[in-house]
Amino acid sequence: MTTTVKAYGAVSTTDPLEPMTVERRELGPHDVFIDIDYAGICHSDIHTVRGDWGPIAYPQVVGHEIVGHVAAVGSAVTKHKVGDRVGVGCESGSCGECAQCLKGEEVYCLKGNIQTYAGVDLDGTITQGGYSQATVVDERFVLSVPESLPLEKVAPLLCAGVTLYAPLKHWRAGLGTKVAIIGMGGLGHVGVKLAHALGAEVTVLSRTLAKKDDGLKLGADHYYATEDPQTFEKLAGEFDLILNTVSAGLDYGMYVNLLAVDGTLVILGAPTEPVAVDAINLITHRRSIAGSANGGIADTQEMLDFCAEHGIVPETELIGADYINEAYERVLASDVRYRFVIDIKSL
Ligand code: NAP
Ligand code: ZN
Repeated sequence: MTTTVKAYGAVSTTDPLEPMTVERRELGPHDVFIDIDYAGICHSDIHTVRGDWGPIAYPQVVGHEIVGHVAAVGSAVTKHKVGDRVGVGCESGSCGECAQCLKGEEVYCLKGNIQTYAGVDLDGTITQGGYSQATVVDERFVLSVPESLPLEKVAPLLCAGVTLYAPLKHWRAGLGTKVAIIGMGGLGHVGVKLAHALGAEVTVLSRTLAKKDDGLKLGADHYYATEDPQTFEKLAGEFDLILNTVSAGLDYGMYVNLLAVDGTLVILGAPTEPVAVDAINLITHRRSIAGSANGGIADTQEMLDFCAEHGIVPETELIGADYINEAYERVLASDVRYRFVIDIKSL
């Protein structure tokens, strides 16, 4: 039997989100039933419900930064037990058999993973996300939240955290590397904390200096305004790794020029505009442009444990469900310090 739970979701690309209900599947042997406590608001939620990435089916409940408690487990579940503090991120399923899944990189599943929302579930239904009272997820995709991390602040780590941690790890950011983060928003501010904790020299590239004090407090060594053309002269050839978290299109070529020899610009922000750069500027410095999607389950757990070890939590503003639409407008206006988290009790 399915379970009906309260949720808050979109009915069209333009209407405000509204209260609704969703059905959660009957608990299978490998499933975990999670009572959700908090859900973060990621800019991807807004891209999705507003149709920025193409048409979706409505009604749609989004939210892929989910934390809560285990309320029930299927008969074969071994990884979690009732009462555990757990999290769910952007993916809730994958084939489990392809080379990427076997490596623990479920996010790059060769058969296509199951997105936590707006994805196609095994039974053909559209997945519904975390702005809801409860969810049912395969135990492989349920993360353990370390006891020392305050649950109310942890949710954004499930997407924003791992989306920055995975490329920092993949491109070996650490002592002796110079890392720049473009965009001081939900993703960017967590990136500053993580890169600093990994030992890298961290620079924030924000449009203005309005958030400079915060950036330096969170661990940045330097902070520059990208609206100032001198920034691009001063920092030419400077960085080993640039992580772009901007939700809108950018003149990527300007940022390629900030890469050192062998440097990489990693695109994390996901606008739909194409990436155009001058080939010569890549060739002459053996520079790369790459993309990166959140992260595999192993990296996500490693990131949570790393955050516990280093006392890292996102800067959050806790809101009730009735504030979600206003929060969306504030995210779009970059008026968020630095992640909204929905108190699911308020549903
Ligand atoms: P966010 O909180 O809105 O932050 C985005 C930041 O980008 C803003 O704080 C702002 O930084 C900058 N920005 C916004 N509009 C801009 C513009 N027109 N020109 C230049 N800079 C602008 O969003 P988020 O939740 O961090 O997500 C950022 C992007 O990453 C979204 O596109 C989201 O879909 C994507 N994303 C990708 C993945 C992945 O797996 N790769 C995962 C999660 C999210 P400043 O004010 O500092 O300039
Ligand atoms: Zn996200």
